[in-house]
Amino acid sequence: MPMNRTGRPSHSGEGTLPAPFESFSGHRGLRHEEPLIFEIGDARHSGVDIEDAGDFQTALGGLERNGSIGLPGLSEPQTVRHFTRLSQKNYGIDSGFFPLGSCTMKHNPRLNEKVARLPGLADIHPLQPQSTVQGALAVMRDLSHWLMTLTGMPAVALNPKAGAHGELCGIMAIRAALEARGDARKIILVPESAHGTNPATAVFCGYQVKAIPAGPDGRVDLEALKKALGPDVAGIMLTNPNTCGLFERDIIKIAEAVHEAGGFFYCDGANFNAIVGRVRPGDLGIDAMHINLHKTFSTPHGGGGPGSGPVVFSEALAPYAPLPYVVETDDGLALHEHHQGADDQSFGRLVAFHGQMGMYVRALAYMLSHGHDGLRQLAEDAVLNANYLLAELSTHITASFTGPCMHEALFDDRFLKDTGISTLDFAKAMIDEGYHPMTMYFPLVVHGAMLIEPTESESKATLDEFIASMRGLAAAAKEAAETGKTERFTAAPHFAPLRRLDETLAARQPLLKWTAPTPSQAAE
Ligand SMILES: *Cc1c(COP(=O)(O)O)cnc(C)c1O
Repeated sequence: MPMNRTGRPSHSGEGTLPAPFESFSGHRGLRHEEPLIFEIGDARHSGVDIEDAGDFQTALGGLERNGSIGLPGLSEPQTVRHFTRLSQKNYGIDSGFFPLGSCTMKHNPRLNEKVARLPGLADIHPLQPQSTVQGALAVMRDLSHWLMTLTGMPAVALNPKAGAHGELCGIMAIRAALEARGDARKIILVPESAHGTNPATAVFCGYQVKAIPAGPDGRVDLEALKKALGPDVAGIMLTNPNTCGLFERDIIKIAEAVHEAGGFFYCDGANFNAIVGRVRPGDLGIDAMHINLHKTFSTPHGGGGPGSGPVVFSEALAPYAPLPYVVETDDGLALHEHHQGADDQSFGRLVAFHGQMGMYVRALAYMLSHGHDGLRQLAEDAVLNANYLLAELSTHITASFTGPCMHEALFDDRFLKDTGISTLDFAKAMIDEGYHPMTMYFPLVVHGAMLIEPTESESKATLDEFIASMRGLAAAAKEAAETGKTERFTAAPHFAPLRRLDETLAARQPLLKWTAPTPSQAAE
């Protein structure tokens, strides 16, 4: 394997279209090999001019450092180039189509970013006197209003910092409500198609998880659910639309059955994008539901930024919601550390301060710029786009369920039967086509799942290009199986900066620590 100037193996010459020669620099065209930051620069370099500290007396009483801690030293141009090149290796929604199912990788409007960077919002501190941050508190109040209105729920906790954190918040409120009535139930029901965070949350809160099977139509088996209900069931965690991209048509019957058995109904609202403006979860009998602001209401996420997972609550759970929350007082807006009224039974604080302020601003900017009609249209367009892909792709790739879908389309690996090509191979071949692969092997209810979520922000032209590539790949897979030449898939990706990585090894033994090369390595 060729080595680049840093002494690390070069991957750049390995495509199916090999370069006629190795470059002297180790780079390939304008695509640079980028070393680790520790492998470039020198501790004596700096991006800023700081005067020599001269003689000084430390006040650390002997706790001061007695040697170098190995920080990298780079000049400003070196720093800019390093991070710019790294950013160019990162595929994101701003680079191209990103149909990662269940993640709602939609366009993030630049308007949101502009508003979030206003100094009055970006530069405030959570410990500032409340009289000086009235605008930020108004953002929180208005966002709460929109979330309660869109969901038809009477209370909201803004502060959970991700969808999974929202689940934790909701299940903690359910547990507080059950404890308040002296009812220590032990079981949470979770459908088989659920996101992994659902059972993880239930177990983290001390519950046993009982799986509910899906029916042949990809939806919860209502009879199986009713059989599982009993005096020890604290509640159910149900995703709607579910992770097969299907609306749980029995949701009202499910809510009634759970309530009749004395349990609570937690809804995983990560897929709210499909129904916002069309259905109010509060009308469906839900007691608590998180909303992934970073999915439905846009914000760079998935390596691109933080999440935010506010939870809306029913009347029954509202008294147990976490603190603080914004209230109007005679002196303006304030954060209250107690629920109003006699029945304050909050489980307490969930986060140190007030949650992800920057995301509140982005979500509210998104809501205000879309308006109620725009939000409804985004759900309609998301569903339309997914159904277009479902219809156009199901001629070549096996759709898992019959009938229309919601915001994402589920396919499985039956079309690859006897080809020797797996879902993973197919996904890697999509990288060669310039697409971030769809979600793979999830949900678990079908074999070799391929979950495709186009979102509303993709044009028909983009979808048509994608369809042509996917059909081409499906036909190429059949042909490869006939000729026995499957390397296009089994050795893919061929054109990416790095070839097939050992993902298991990378997860089990990540190389997170850089060690200085020995003098002989450095000399090579
Ligand atoms: C994304 C997602 C979650 C988790 O949300 P995070 O914000 O990533 O913690 C939970 N459930 C479903 C169905 C999801 O799609």
